Amino acid sequence: MLTCCLDLPSLTIDKVRDGLLSRQFSAVELTNEALRHAESENSKTNAYLSFASDRALAVAARVDQRIARGEDPGPLAGVPVAVKDVIVTKGVRTTCGSKLLANYIPPYDATAVIRLEQAGGILIGKTNCDEFAMGSSNENSAFGPVRNPVAVDRVPGGSSGGSAAVVAQGTAVVSLGSDTGGSVRQPASFCGVVGAMATYGRVSRYGLTAFASSLDHIGPFARNVKDAARLLRVIAGHDPADSTSATAPVPDYEASVDAPVAGLKLGLPREYMRDATGETATRIAQAIDRLKSLGCEVRDISLPMTDSAIACYYIIATAEASSNLARYDGVRYTSRSAESSTLAAMYRNTRGEGFGAECKRRIMLGTYVLSAGYYDAYYLKAQKVRALIARDFARAFETVDAVVAPVSPFPAFRLGEKVDDPLAMYLSDIYTITASLAGIPALSVPCGKTSEGLPVGLQIMARHFDEPTMFRIAAAFEKTN
Ligand code: GLN
Repeated sequence: MLTCCLDLPSLTIDKVRDGLLSRQFSAVELTNEALRHAESENSKTNAYLSFASDRALAVAARVDQRIARGEDPGPLAGVPVAVKDVIVTKGVRTTCGSKLLANYIPPYDATAVIRLEQAGGILIGKTNCDEFAMGSSNENSAFGPVRNPVAVDRVPGGSSGGSAAVVAQGTAVVSLGSDTGGSVRQPASFCGVVGAMATYGRVSRYGLTAFASSLDHIGPFARNVKDAARLLRVIAGHDPADSTSATAPVPDYEASVDAPVAGLKLGLPREYMRDATGETATRIAQAIDRLKSLGCEVRDISLPMTDSAIACYYIIATAEASSNLARYDGVRYTSRSAESSTLAAMYRNTRGEGFGAECKRRIMLGTYVLSAGYYDAYYLKAQKVRALIARDFARAFETVDAVVAPVSPFPAFRLGEKVDDPLAMYLSDIYTITASLAGIPALSVPCGKTSEGLPVGLQIMARHFDEPTMFRIAAAFEKTN
């Protein structure tokens, strides 16, 4: 039987390919097994919100046909992939973690989803997330929190907690999440997997439900750097359907994972080490030593605007969110409140009943900072601060090839620990939102565990469109694990 030769949690993209081409298993057999495993394990983490069995098996059959005809089955052939539920999938329920969209079936696919299936990837299911990707712990989902597979009393991070958890748990080989202020990197660090955010515009946002459009990215999760690089290459590239997508050609990211790193100059921003808790700081210091032993030169640098980043992000992100979320009005997409006798009451009741507390908080905050009397004092000011944060990085990259830092000041915290303190929750994004505001690529790669066994992630940030250097450093570092 198939299970004898399939250890799903240890599969990588290359292992799937080898297994298919050597006829150890077919794509349909692997898909059936992956679906069965994911469904049976889901009660432990609540990471999947829906499974796409029919669609998955249809794509798997196409992969098998290509192999039977002797054709190249594609760079993701037969690979079980999970996709965050803010990314639309034709015919497969897409909830955005919101009660409002509990029954929403999109009529089209996101570009990233089309590309991953064209590459032979198998979409097996949709993953739980914070409502409209707003959160750092996955506790803002209308469908219950996700539990961290590494320690089930802990959060997996957010907002792409489900996509990180399924890769860590072994119920998908790779997955897609979205990162607006850290939502791929932070859950990757909490769950002990690799998570990457490319340069803004590198991956089409077509079909990614808008939260804060100038910050939103789709990004890959994987169990190793090479798989993350492969998945990013598949989904990256210009898309006429997204006017902010970049036209620059996509390099072969995987080609950089075996390149040596000796002689590269890395910057360690002193502002990022100040608030890191003891064990996180220790693991990062050890990671720096390992990078030095690979021949990298590590320099102390300063990114002086770091202290303003949280305030800047939570003005810009909420301003954009307040506008983007206006479309959920009871007319389109969503369910409609039954209690409404007038149009105004329909809007009010639908939105009042449908949105969770965090979305309401952000809509109010965003509406406030955009209002006539406060626009200059908050929104305009935040845009200026954003430019200064980007300038900090541009200056740093005049002297270093990449910036290394923690992903989060602390490892995965306990479920419920921060839910009543939104400000403490916001502060957990302190090291990730700077790269988001600057639009530069950044990833999280595992760099050890705390004494309690909780994973810690090392963040590597690079110049705009220099994903190859980011992957090169991450892959070399990963080999020292
Ligand atoms: N935690 C941040 C927030 O709540 C980032 C979320 C994200 O990247 N989607 O906005």
